Amino acid sequence: MFMVFTGNGKGKTTAAIGQAVRALGQGERVFMIQFIKSDRYPSGEDRVLAGCLAAACGHMHFEKAGLGFVGILGDALPREAHRKAAEAALAKARDTACSGAYDLVILDEVNVALDLHLLSLDEVIAFLDAVPDGVDVIFTGRYAHSEILFRADLATRCDELSHAYRRGVPARKGIEY
Ligand code: ATP
Ligand code: MG
Repeated sequence: MFMVFTGNGKGKTTAAIGQAVRALGQGERVFMIQFIKSDRYPSGEDRVLAGCLAAACGHMHFEKAGLGFVGILGDALPREAHRKAAEAALAKARDTACSGAYDLVILDEVNVALDLHLLSLDEVIAFLDAVPDGVDVIFTGRYAHSEILFRADLATRCDELSHAYRRGVPARKGIEY
């Protein structure tokens, strides 16, 4: 099953985490890799997914494989550095999906990496083609490419009906991160 969570509203990454928890509870092995997001910007789920959940279930791998914001919020890194990090993350996701060691492979924010041209559509499609039958895959992130949506068995769009940041409310610990 190939699932895509996209759209401008809140809920894409947290939906993927929810699927991870559900799959773990059914004894499945879950691998989650985050594009763009880096360890320099910790989020509440990091310690739970990489720490206690991994310890409790034994079959959860979580990592942030990006270098942080791309071209915004003071990012001074060359685009090439972001591109290399995204390529490495995709290669790791492909090797993992093909290894037989995981049942669910989550590529968080991969849609954004593709939209920012850190990855090419061809290499993302090649990743999907390489995933063996029986391995579930989730892509998250805004701006999902039409070709990706076309390939999805299940695609959900989170629509922003309202969001507190539009009223100037800053991102809140425990809600946004
Ligand atoms: P979540 O991780 O909460 O499920 P998401 O994956 O759907 O959200 P992203 O597009 O990845 O959403 O954005 C990450 C977080 O940043 C979200 O929680 C969202 O509410 C918040 N966010 C998005 N845009 C802004 C903004 N302009 N200002 C402040 N926070 C924002
Ligand atoms: Mg997200």
